[in-house]
Amino acid sequence: MASHWNPNLACPGDTPLGIEVQSAQGIYIRTTDGKSYMDLIAGLSVANIGHRHPKVMEAIHAQMDQYLHVMVFGEYIQKPQNRFASLLAEVLPPQLNCTYFTNSGTEANEGALKLAKRHTGRTRIIAFKGAYHGSTHGALSVGGNEQKKYAFRPLLPDVHHLEFNATDQLNAIDETVAAVIIEPIQGDAGIRIPEKSYMQALRARCTATDTPLIFDEVQTGFGRTGRLFAFEHFDVVPDILTLGKALGGGLAMGAFISSREKMADLQSKPMLGHITSFGGHPLCCAAGHASLKAILEEKMLEEVASKGAYLKKMLEPHPVVVEIRQIGLFMAVEMESAQKVNDAVQAFLKQRVIGFYFLSCRNSFRLAPPINITRKELKEAALRLLKALNTLN
Ligand code: PLP
Repeated sequence: MASHWNPNLACPGDTPLGIEVQSAQGIYIRTTDGKSYMDLIAGLSVANIGHRHPKVMEAIHAQMDQYLHVMVFGEYIQKPQNRFASLLAEVLPPQLNCTYFTNSGTEANEGALKLAKRHTGRTRIIAFKGAYHGSTHGALSVGGNEQKKYAFRPLLPDVHHLEFNATDQLNAIDETVAAVIIEPIQGDAGIRIPEKSYMQALRARCTATDTPLIFDEVQTGFGRTGRLFAFEHFDVVPDILTLGKALGGGLAMGAFISSREKMADLQSKPMLGHITSFGGHPLCCAAGHASLKAILEEKMLEEVASKGAYLKKMLEPHPVVVEIRQIGLFMAVEMESAQKVNDAVQAFLKQRVIGFYFLSCRNSFRLAPPINITRKELKEAALRLLKALNTLN
């Protein structure tokens, strides 16, 4: 553990895990005091293919030798941006063929909401209770955790929150709505998986009212749920997709993706409708491209579902576990109280495994290891978790 938190460094939480990092490789984080931890949260769904994947490192080194930042997004032609945008278009449905690169997930959602408003000329936004879309003012406005929002009001006007997975509320979406923004599987609400019929009804309602449907896949993207993108589980396609976290292969980036026609609206009325200095940074694009290629080439998606099912099966019978909500390697383990979750997270550290909290679901802890964790590593991880849970009775 670090001996103290540097008072020159901001710390937004009151109980930081506080391990002091020396290096990280694959699923392991090594600390300055010589310990090695299994990272079962992948830096909160960023290190989906593990830390410092060799193909990502190679791409970063190659790009470093060429150029770093040269100009704000959208002015120069930069091969790393073009190559990555083309690969994203290849793996996505044809209506999601145009990518705007941002710096983070929250900025991706800001861009998506602005695009939808610009495209429709409408102002009303529909979002969902329990949702997390980021921490900037716009993203916070569509978030569904009032406790995290009240201190920052006034936020965006004309935002309305529906219950997640409640088909009978979808009539609130009408021709006045500029955008519906939803996580297709809610992450920070504690892994909430909606019915397929609900997602299809949502899609149908948005189509009928000509309302852009935004899927926030910042956390669910890039294999986390067993498919490249979570929307594939529901056979529905959004009008705008937002990405972040694992998108950059360990470097900071986000993106909002739509059709070329819709995206053109940001170019006019007025011109430069969304701008960013660092969005599409060449180093991040090179890393993100290499990471996505590695997922595809190494067929990393193939075993995510069965690995997740294995982990669930190992943990579920334990007496301190109340319920497990899981899809792929995206898992919430519910306990009887928030205190028990605190105790569990601390007990994990003693066994050299890292689990973590949810923002809006304090009686569950999260597990989301790198999707390429080996079977052997997964078994070892499960045994360590069980050993920690055994100390909690
Ligand atoms: N959207 C979702 C679903 C997220 O889980 C997060 C972060 O946890 C964000 C948006 C915000 O992304 P960032 O932290 O990169 O701003």
